Amino acid sequence: MRLSDHITNIKGIGPRRAEAFGKLGLISLRDLLYYAPRSYRDFSSVCAVKEAAHGTVGAFHVVILSEAKLARIHRAMQITTVRVIEFGADPNDKKAQFTLVWYNQPYRGRSLTPGEAYYACGRLDRSRGTKLVNPSLSAELPGIEPVYPLVAGLSQKVVRDAVSAALTAVGDAVEETLPAAIVQRYGLLPLSAALRELHRPTDMAALSKAKDRLAFEDMLLYSLMVQLLRDERLSFPGRPMRMEGVLDRFLKTLPFVPTGAQRRAMEEISREISAGRRMNRLLQGDVGSGKTAVALFLMFAAAQNGAQSVLMAPTEILARQHYRAVENLFPGKTVLLVGGMKKKEHDAALAALKSGEAVAAVGTHALLSEGVEFHDLGAVIADEQHRFGVRQRAAIGAKGENAHMLIMSATPIPRTLSLILYGDLEVSLLDELPPGRKPIMTRYVPRSKREAMYNFLQQQIDSGRQAYVVCPLVEQSEALEGVLSASDLFRELENKLHAKLALLHGRMAAAKKDETAEAFRRGEIDVLVSTTVIEVGVDVRNASVMVIENADRFGLAQLHQLRGRVGRGSEEAYCFLLSESDADSARERLSALAETNDGFVIAEKDLSMRGPGEFLGERQHGVNELTALRLACSMELLKDSRSAAQMLLAQKPKEALPLIEKAKQLLSERGGIAPN
Ligand code: ADP
Ligand code: MG
Repeated sequence: MRLSDHITNIKGIGPRRAEAFGKLGLISLRDLLYYAPRSYRDFSSVCAVKEAAHGTVGAFHVVILSEAKLARIHRAMQITTVRVIEFGADPNDKKAQFTLVWYNQPYRGRSLTPGEAYYACGRLDRSRGTKLVNPSLSAELPGIEPVYPLVAGLSQKVVRDAVSAALTAVGDAVEETLPAAIVQRYGLLPLSAALRELHRPTDMAALSKAKDRLAFEDMLLYSLMVQLLRDERLSFPGRPMRMEGVLDRFLKTLPFVPTGAQRRAMEEISREISAGRRMNRLLQGDVGSGKTAVALFLMFAAAQNGAQSVLMAPTEILARQHYRAVENLFPGKTVLLVGGMKKKEHDAALAALKSGEAVAAVGTHALLSEGVEFHDLGAVIADEQHRFGVRQRAAIGAKGENAHMLIMSATPIPRTLSLILYGDLEVSLLDELPPGRKPIMTRYVPRSKREAMYNFLQQQIDSGRQAYVVCPLVEQSEALEGVLSASDLFRELENKLHAKLALLHGRMAAAKKDETAEAFRRGEIDVLVSTTVIEVGVDVRNASVMVIENADRFGLAQLHQLRGRVGRGSEEAYCFLLSESDADSARERLSALAETNDGFVIAEKDLSMRGPGEFLGERQHGVNELTALRLACSMELLKDSRSAAQMLLAQKPKEALPLIEKAKQLLSERGGIAPN
């Protein structure tokens, strides 16, 4: 078999299963080899039951004490239980005895005989008596088990077997992709060994080396792209803009005095776009630091020079909000491009941009990146860039041959990391908030204080305030134990609160989402229960309470972003971080947010506590399949991959040419750089 062979070549995978695998993007044997487990369960050594805490997932060595019992609770629930004792324990030692329990697996009890010994692997539950829930039984220690992300129609076993079969068939056929000098210099595992360890780890240390190897390659590719993009851009001339008096004229249009930081950023932009060099700039500023005004300044400058500009937002909600501000600046000469527009409106907008009748366009990234023609585009601005990676930046830059580019991000990123992730850009910082902002009162709320918090929330609603309640999940079907979904919570709060509630999540139709967000903005809804779709940009001044469920599941930077949705008006604002987790570490991490409102301080903390994974989030660059691995990589590794990229581009050793080609290829697919 070969790497490119279809997965149906594996015994046991027919068309139906292949279809399910296809939903995960797994088509070829190679895809299987690169399919990273979501997590691992370490069954490589035996846990002592007396020492194991509630919730421990582990392997327990047991001897069956009694016949299995099967109880039918109701039609849909059958429970199998069997008493066991820890292998080698004194038969009279009650503390060494516990129960194995299976839900709706009646066959489990059939083959068990008292006196037999097994390794029982599962989660220990101490809530009512000590039991091991839905354990698997085996005669030998299973070792470290991978746990894969699944879709309907696939089980862990099916995926594990398929991956094993692929490893056996073509595991050795994988060719090394990194130059030998790099592998050696950074002490990396060879690729084929890394892939083996990824799926069948010898031990945790080997697994960690395997992840490092794979993450290294991923980040090396990323760094190559950043560097190539930078070089390419430096070679572009920029359209020189005349800036005399422009800043003063612009400031007169603002209803407020700019902060020192805003003024500085505008001056940096002004200097750069007048110098005959193309601007590629990142504007980093905490939520509420006033990035929009800086964007408007660049659009104004372009218009004063007879050029058009475009402002892209990640969501329709945000695009509409920006549109109002831009339309204010260029009345009658601004067009909006969002989904669900009537064809006639849409065509008219495109025509106005092509003829030059419109000076500014505002819309979603999706719509503006496709086939929009401009009469004379002078500036491109992308808002909330933290969701976009290097290839998206390449595409944004490709919009106008010599248009100046400004990318805005509300995710404060530590300087060290920013150099690596955004090395192709200059950076302006808005490290100052407009005056009069009160810090948001932030509290960690354990389970016992929940009711009190809901009472407080009710009081706020009664006095006319609005609130957000955020959950990590849309539906319980995404099933994570102990994690509330937005729709469940919505039903619960409907009963608990006397308020008008609405539900908002990413799976709703765009029109419905917009409608809901609009109604909230107009104050027709008191409490908006949502997933993180509200994370970006929504500006509702009357909203003064932010409640975040299962807060320990979010990164600090993201929590900080969410918190920034409130406190935009004159009222005192509150953020409540709810957590079911008893772990001290969760409490400690969340408390960091209560201590400071400075996003950059929080970012540094997040980086030191959780590593750079948080900042490399899923959508950060999307280079390839190994999303899960990025979460595991360290700052050291990022630095190494960056210096390796610089070295490879400087020396261009023959061995490295395929990698460099691949980086170029990835960029040019998005129109980022010219293919050769
Ligand atoms: P960001 O996009 O950085 O999160 P916005 O640009 O949406 O922030 O600004 C947040 C709010 O602060 C807006 O309502 C805006 O009008 C207001 N604002 C911005 N700059 C100033 C300023 N210098 N003084 C007073 N208010 C400001
Ligand atoms: Mg904004």
